Amino acid sequence: MPFVFDFDHAHPKAPMELKDLLGGKGANLAEMTSVLKLPVPPGFTLTTDACRAYMAGGWPAGLTDEVAKARTRLERAMGKTIGDPADPLLVSVRSGAKFSMPGMMDTVLNLGLNDRSVVGLARQTNDERFAYDSYRRFVSMYGRIVLDIPGAEFDEMFDAAKELAGTTSDANVPTELLKYLVSSYQGIVERHTNKPFPQDPAEQLRGAIEAVFASWNGARAVAYRDREHIAHDLGTAVNVQAMVFGNRDEKSGTGVGFTRDPTTGAKGAYGDFLVNAQGEDVVAGIRNTEPLSALERHFPKVHAELVAIFERLERHYRDMCDTEFTIEQGKLWMLQTRVGKRSGRAALRMAVDMTKEPAIALGHAEAVSRITEDHLDSVLHPQFAGSGHSVLAKGLAASPGAAVGRVYFTADDAAAAAERGEPVILVRSETSPEDVHGMLAAEGILTARGGLVSHAAVVARGWGKPAVVGAEVLRIASHSFAVGSVTVHEGDWLSLDGGAGTVVVGSLPLVAAQPTAEFTTLLRWADEIRAGHLGVRANADTGSDAANARRLGAEGIGLCRTEHMFLGEDRLPIVRRMILADTPEEETAALEELRVAQRSDFVEILAAMDGLPVTVRLLDPPLHEFLPSIHDLAIKEATTGLDAGERRLYDAARLWQEANPMLGTRGVRLGVLKPGLYAMQVRALMEAAHDRVRAGGHPVIEIMIPLTVSGPELALARSWVEAAVAAAGASSKKPAKQAAGARAGRLEVSIGTMVETPRAALRAAELAESAEFFSFGTNDLTQMTFGFSRDDVEGRMMSAYLELGLLPRNPFEVVDADGVGELIRIAVERGRAARPGLKIGVCGEHGGDPTSIGTFYDAGLDYVSCSPFRVPVARLAAAQAVLAAGHYTGPANKAEAQKKAPAAKRAGGVTKGLNGKAKTDKARATPGANGSRAGAPRTKRTSAAR
Ligand code: PEP
Ligand code: MG
Repeated sequence: MPFVFDFDHAHPKAPMELKDLLGGKGANLAEMTSVLKLPVPPGFTLTTDACRAYMAGGWPAGLTDEVAKARTRLERAMGKTIGDPADPLLVSVRSGAKFSMPGMMDTVLNLGLNDRSVVGLARQTNDERFAYDSYRRFVSMYGRIVLDIPGAEFDEMFDAAKELAGTTSDANVPTELLKYLVSSYQGIVERHTNKPFPQDPAEQLRGAIEAVFASWNGARAVAYRDREHIAHDLGTAVNVQAMVFGNRDEKSGTGVGFTRDPTTGAKGAYGDFLVNAQGEDVVAGIRNTEPLSALERHFPKVHAELVAIFERLERHYRDMCDTEFTIEQGKLWMLQTRVGKRSGRAALRMAVDMTKEPAIALGHAEAVSRITEDHLDSVLHPQFAGSGHSVLAKGLAASPGAAVGRVYFTADDAAAAAERGEPVILVRSETSPEDVHGMLAAEGILTARGGLVSHAAVVARGWGKPAVVGAEVLRIASHSFAVGSVTVHEGDWLSLDGGAGTVVVGSLPLVAAQPTAEFTTLLRWADEIRAGHLGVRANADTGSDAANARRLGAEGIGLCRTEHMFLGEDRLPIVRRMILADTPEEETAALEELRVAQRSDFVEILAAMDGLPVTVRLLDPPLHEFLPSIHDLAIKEATTGLDAGERRLYDAARLWQEANPMLGTRGVRLGVLKPGLYAMQVRALMEAAHDRVRAGGHPVIEIMIPLTVSGPELALARSWVEAAVAAAGASSKKPAKQAAGARAGRLEVSIGTMVETPRAALRAAELAESAEFFSFGTNDLTQMTFGFSRDDVEGRMMSAYLELGLLPRNPFEVVDADGVGELIRIAVERGRAARPGLKIGVCGEHGGDPTSIGTFYDAGLDYVSCSPFRVPVARLAAAQAVLAAGHYTGPANKAEAQKKAPAAKRAGGVTKGLNGKAKTDKARATPGANGSRAGAPRTKRTSAAR
């Protein structure tokens, strides 16, 4: 396979589908040249294969020869030679990776100029100033990029020249001074390299190509790829293209144009241009650009030609394109095109509009596959207006949306400030149930410790409240925090973006959330696509959360954490009394209080989800989250002393203290130690259900037992639940071999378990004997499979693991498809073998992550459950997972098939849609990471499986 292809090469496939090989820019240049026959300056592309070969073993054998031949073909096409002293051809050398990495890699322009050819350029263009200005730009660019000379040295000299000329404008520096600058710049080069500036065009070309290859591994590019989850081993292509000049004269110009407005999605050409300028002048913002509409005034013919090209591009790509163009002495040249980036609002509008435009005729499935998680988030949550803010600190992006407020450091202070009408940002080292009233009062939450499934993250996400957690650089004191030399005091303004994980000092303007009509339309189409394949439920613990979840499209509750009903200031003491009770009487009294409180909570939830399944998890409090801080009480004891109540709490808390509370007395284990606890909860739930039936409602109840690890343990817990269900009104039915739900009066109640430990997954067959459903608790399953503490590991070591490539993604963010995923697949297979039709879902935080949703769907799950505010994202991702698996056969897809449009495909390493690119390319970067997909195809499911 050659390493070099001309733009007009006749590829066997549409070049735009060869981005892996030609890079995005090269593929689109080839598409415009060879397919659309647009006016593109000729050139050639060195493939990403060439870059990878270079990275692996230096300059590949044969590449010099291929480049030389391509150069000759280019020179023949242009009728000019690079470096010709009479009439030189100049070329640009630009990077172009598969995924756009704007500004992250290097470019060299005006290549081919030397001491002789500059004279020829001056003569040919009849513009000596233009020729020497181009040469000056080339020497400094080449010096900086290829020869690694600090750019400041050239800049300082140019500034001095401008001062000498008495001007602040580059355009007014006289020719003689430009000539002087060229030789001074060459002096800088010689001083740094001990060699004269290279005059041989072949040497210049090789140097520039190598520099672009090397810029793939430059610090900027590596950091960008880390952030965007782009694999580091893809490499970049290099495009060598004949230069055209928008800065020749007043009949020349350059601009960037979009085929429709990328911010609003409105139809019609949109963009900026400058007369007599080079592309970098438009991007750098040195001169004020004119809107594209003004082009009609300056160059009516070119304007008409450009608008016609835009229409062709849209028809051809069937999407909005962004372009760069140059007008050289009245002739239009297209320098680049690609499917354009767009705001969330624009993405939604364009996707819907394009289904109605006959020239594009997007199918519904295609429209759905074009929307990303970010697009939805940006219309669901407030965002910072504008960009380019100076970031004080970065933490984990725990709950999306932007928030602005004054900083308070305790929940009480936060609540008091909110009471006074102040917007508040609550800053804590970490949060616990004791902070919940402050969290509730705050606009946003910032913590220095904790990971994506820490208390702060889970609670904030559940409420849709912006949160940044685990910002380790924060040094928090009692009434201030510091990051380096910057100190933020109580009452100071702070802004945070929970979608980006960034913290900014001061009060940034916000743009409100604005879900549009197109948002609703697209999600309706997504629902049609996933119907009968993958359900979406919500994790909700209160009536208002449940109502909100239903409004956002949830089809039931997949996890109601009953202990979360006790997070309120007035409720927390009840759970504590229950946990810390010394005598059976105290315990019974506390349980009774719990029952009364829970009954009314359940009524609200069941009412909000009437007719839809509600999975109620019996109590699962990791004790440390519900106990008072032993540390604080110890300090109090040593300073002011403890009152009698505090003394009791302190003693009891010490008694119950555990070294590993997450692996300790929680879940069903608490039920075993506190007989009566689960029976009480079921009683409260059944009473609530009967209340609902009496009110004409249709409660659909699923009771879930947490953290079970064996058949006998689940059978025991199930027996308490069945007894309580029976006591609530009717007998429970249990056929000889298998449990089949319990019945209370007219109410069907199903009983199931969470699968949260590796053992539970492996012993799924015995658990299925006593369970009508499974729900994977992937937060704990991840914690226990990796042995990573879900509260600590992300703050301390996760970034090192990600940087070193020891993990492809944070497994608390994106489910580990290989390890945790394998356990899930095993449990699905064994569970359904023991009980055909076993209903299976997931309720860990991964249930709202698009990539993880793909993994769950492929594993054969029936539904995912996530925080209410993630429900729209999950609906979309579920539809995309169905499309990716090729399981959707609706009419929209058939229409697309006829048009041969590339629909979202996940097979064979081609990925589109939410986070898709990250998954595929990371998978390639880490051998075996995607093996699960190939190795364990989606479990074949019958209708009985649902
Ligand atoms: C889980 O472990 O994934 C889960 C949903 O339970 P929790 O986060 O409440 O432990
Ligand atoms: Mg759990």
